Amino acid sequence: MLKDQVAVVTGGSRGIGKAIALMLAKEGAHVVINYTSSDEKAKEVKSEIEIMGGKAMIYKADVSNEKSVEEFAKAVYKEFGRIDILVNNAGITKDGLVMRMKEDDFMKVIEINLKGTFLCSKHFGKLMMKARYGKIINISSVVGVMGNAGQANYAASKAGVIGLTKSLAKEFASRNINVNAVAPGFIETEMTKELTEEVKESYAKAIPLGVYGQPEDVANLVVFLSSSVSNYITGQVINLDGGMVM
Ligand code: NAP
Repeated sequence: MLKDQVAVVTGGSRGIGKAIALMLAKEGAHVVINYTSSDEKAKEVKSEIEIMGGKAMIYKADVSNEKSVEEFAKAVYKEFGRIDILVNNAGITKDGLVMRMKEDDFMKVIEINLKGTFLCSKHFGKLMMKARYGKIINISSVVGVMGNAGQANYAASKAGVIGLTKSLAKEFASRNINVNAVAPGFIETEMTKELTEEVKESYAKAIPLGVYGQPEDVANLVVFLSSSVSNYITGQVINLDGGMVM
């Protein structure tokens, strides 16, 4: 489905990003796995792709730093000469009630989740514009759609990603670049492992399908949005949450 296309997955070393990287590779894409600290985990994803017969590259860079992102885009272009798919998946949480939230914790989440998505879209998007082809998929969250007590910084960053997605879709459409967002609900990864049993139970009750999502559920949708099957879809936010938000 994606034979010889070049895909960049930010935060591809673990969780949802890892599942996306593996599934894109399974569909024939060459995959660049970005991360900031998990060297060993990133290497494992690379070797899993190579075992499948695919081509992979790992690139350590902080998506919230413009200089690093600029160098990252140049390095990918040097290696592959093109970029077809960008998945803005890197993200963090620093939860707390607003009354206790430190300015640094608010800003850090905005910087990585929202500014990181902007910077990667800008620098990889530049290469896509020249090629007049591209697919950008931004990983937002249902929390960005409905808000969540204790996650004002995260909700603001993910709501920002939705506004950014729609604006990018309008700016990039004439260059044949589709930009969409995926809004996952509760997906079982290291990010959600940190939640208390009480919080997990309250989430479970709010999911009509009654089960948590898996990283592969998100990856399936990302593959769809990365392929020509979804050519007529742009500027959309697709919830993937077992029916949590309707
Ligand atoms: P995760 O397991 O915590 O993985 C986060 C990934 O982001 C890691 O690969 C991490 O790299 C990378 N990362 C963090 N800061 C970075 C930075 N500054 N630059 C580059 N990479 C960075 O998270 P996840 O649960 O898979 O979530 C992935 C995305 O889905 C996030 O955007 C998250 O907000 C979103 N999401 C998750 C859920 C859920 O229920 N899990 C629900 C909705 C949306 P290192 O390994 O090097 O730290």
